[in-house]
Amino acid sequence: MTKKRNFEVLQDGVINKSLAFSREEREEFGLRGLLPYSVGTQELQLTRLMENLRRKESDIERYVLLSALQDRNERLFYRAVIDNIEQLMPVIYTPTVGEACREFSQIFRESKGFYINPEDKGQISQILDNWPKKDIRVIVVTDGQRILGLGDLGSNGMGIPIGKLALYCACAGISPDQCLPVMLDVGTNNEELLNDILYLGYPHKRLEGEAYFELVDEFIEAVQEKYPKALIQFEDFLTPNAYTLLNKYRNKVLCFNDDIQGTAAVTLSGVYASSRITGTPFKDSKIMFLGAGSAATGIADLMVTAYEKEGLSKEEALKRLWFVDINGLVVSGRDDLMAHNLPYAHDHQPLTFVDAIEEIKPNILIGATGFGGAFTREVIEKMTAINERPVIFALSNPTSRAECTAHHAYAWSNGKAIFASGSPFNKVTYSGRVHKPGQGNNAYIFPGIGLGAIHAEMSTISDEAFLIAAQTLANQVSDEDIELGSLYPPLPNIREISLNIAEAVAENAYATGLAKRPRPENLKQSIADYMFDPTY
Ligand code: NAD
Repeated sequence: MTKKRNFEVLQDGVINKSLAFSREEREEFGLRGLLPYSVGTQELQLTRLMENLRRKESDIERYVLLSALQDRNERLFYRAVIDNIEQLMPVIYTPTVGEACREFSQIFRESKGFYINPEDKGQISQILDNWPKKDIRVIVVTDGQRILGLGDLGSNGMGIPIGKLALYCACAGISPDQCLPVMLDVGTNNEELLNDILYLGYPHKRLEGEAYFELVDEFIEAVQEKYPKALIQFEDFLTPNAYTLLNKYRNKVLCFNDDIQGTAAVTLSGVYASSRITGTPFKDSKIMFLGAGSAATGIADLMVTAYEKEGLSKEEALKRLWFVDINGLVVSGRDDLMAHNLPYAHDHQPLTFVDAIEEIKPNILIGATGFGGAFTREVIEKMTAINERPVIFALSNPTSRAECTAHHAYAWSNGKAIFASGSPFNKVTYSGRVHKPGQGNNAYIFPGIGLGAIHAEMSTISDEAFLIAAQTLANQVSDEDIELGSLYPPLPNIREISLNIAEAVAENAYATGLAKRPRPENLKQSIADYMFDPTY
């Protein structure tokens, strides 16, 4: 299995099993004397780990413990995450990863991932040779400028690609040695970080304009040359840059932007599922967004495609989608709109949010503002007055930024709201009835899309792939979930969900000529066989 011996074996997180090395393995690898007598199983190690996690006082401490375990014993780390996904996803990803990014320079121990800064210009391809693994299939890249709802965290944003790739492995079985987290460290405009002596990043103001886009270009070209089969996931870029990069590369390179397209698919899936409760077919629904940034606009863009698929013209589709931002209803007369807002700027008089609900009468309200509490009692009551079952999505993360809490949505609507959120909320009992809020977590979508894309060796990812992923996810919401008002399936089913999404996405790629790899006879089995299993 390995030529390594003694401590080299115990220090290699890929092969290390620690106490689970058998007597024979201890003999073979020269481990006698280096481990205590007891030989344990992975299950026993997991029991010990979960107990140690329980003893920690905060989630950030749990994050640090798990991060160290990921370096020390990768398989135990993934076993723990897979078997306890509901409990540990919020620790290795949002909301705790936000805190981890804020404190990244303080809690830093071992380097994970790949850092590129402006001094690497002209040499990115060369320095990529330093990365030991050569068969990279998924790259998650950020420049740290818009980390979750937390703003510019510079190179501290590296926690995001690391966390997302851990979810790729846990949720879709992409092998960890095929994953590459990348920080394009182009500086930061965050003064606090620039003045912090512990700050780990390139200590300059952000590279901007042409020089910035040239560096990204060089990076994309270099990874295409080194890892031609890799999927590139853009993550947490500032909205205008996110759109520029996505539009530049989406038809040329195997890539997508999770904040825009992943969020869109997971939300559309929830909207599809909500029809089963409201009885209003998707094509007849009218949707209002609070917030008109990359998340909300990405959702609307995918919904246009979805409406068109249902036979509506583009014009009819656009008419079903309305936006309100910090300055009120997005209408054609406004001079403060960005390019991505323009298709949704309808001819209408300017209105406040509450007046817009009253006049436009949406069935579904989607909050993506980053502004906690934006859905007030008045907002929920207005939605309830015009809908038998109002559908409310409070997508902003972390929990403190959610547009309203699950409890408020149910209480202010007299138990009628169908509620889903970006951050997890517990079940709520209101008037003797149990309501289960669904979590519109991007992790339902991106791992499956990625798995399908790399398995079929797709050349690009079409909008249709996101529609298919949304529909496949919605189909996995059971009648029991719907009965409790939940728009998403239970998270512990995530590997089966990802496998089904991967199969559907890959099947579509074969049908549309986007797949470069010959189709295996049994596609689903072939994808399942490819999935990394962390059992020893
Ligand atoms: P963004 O900065 O691009 O856009 C924010 C938008 O909200 C802007 O249009 C702004 O005008 C508007 N806004 C801010 N405060 C407002 C207020 N009080 N009233 C009305 N409008 C207001 O950000 P983004 O990338 O679009 O992300 C927005 C939020 O969506 C973030 O908090 C993020 O956590 C969340 N999000 C959730 C998911 C998910 O749950 N699956 C995925 C992606 C993003």
